[in-house]
Amino acid sequence: MTDREAKHFYDSAAWKHKRLQILTRDHHECQDCRKRLTAAAVAGEILNGKDRMIRRAEEVHHIKELKEHPELALSDDNLVSLCISCHNLRHGRAPKKFKRKHKLASKERW
Ligand SMILES: [Zn+2]
Ligand SMILES: [Zn+2]
Repeated sequence: MTDREAKHFYDSAAWKHKRLQILTRDHHECQDCRKRLTAAAVAGEILNGKDRMIRRAEEVHHIKELKEHPELALSDDNLVSLCISCHNLRHGRAPKKFKRKHKLASKERW
């Protein structure tokens, strides 16, 4: 699937419908946060602050990437509800860390 097709897919009514269905299935709870809490409870770890709670899922993630597996685009088993920060982690994007643009010192004018 190309970028264009993927974009088209995310705009489709079928996806919007499916996305809501998955969020409802997962009770709008981030499934990675839930796993983290369960794992910590099993290990007897104490979590602090924000890590103690399950964040609200805002996004639905394709476990097998959409572009690689378009046939699984709307497959329930391939979809999981995630909060924004867990979703970023899944994609290897650092959460809330924006790369600072290298600021050029203003050129001195003669
Ligand atoms: Zn999460
Ligand atoms: Zn994703």
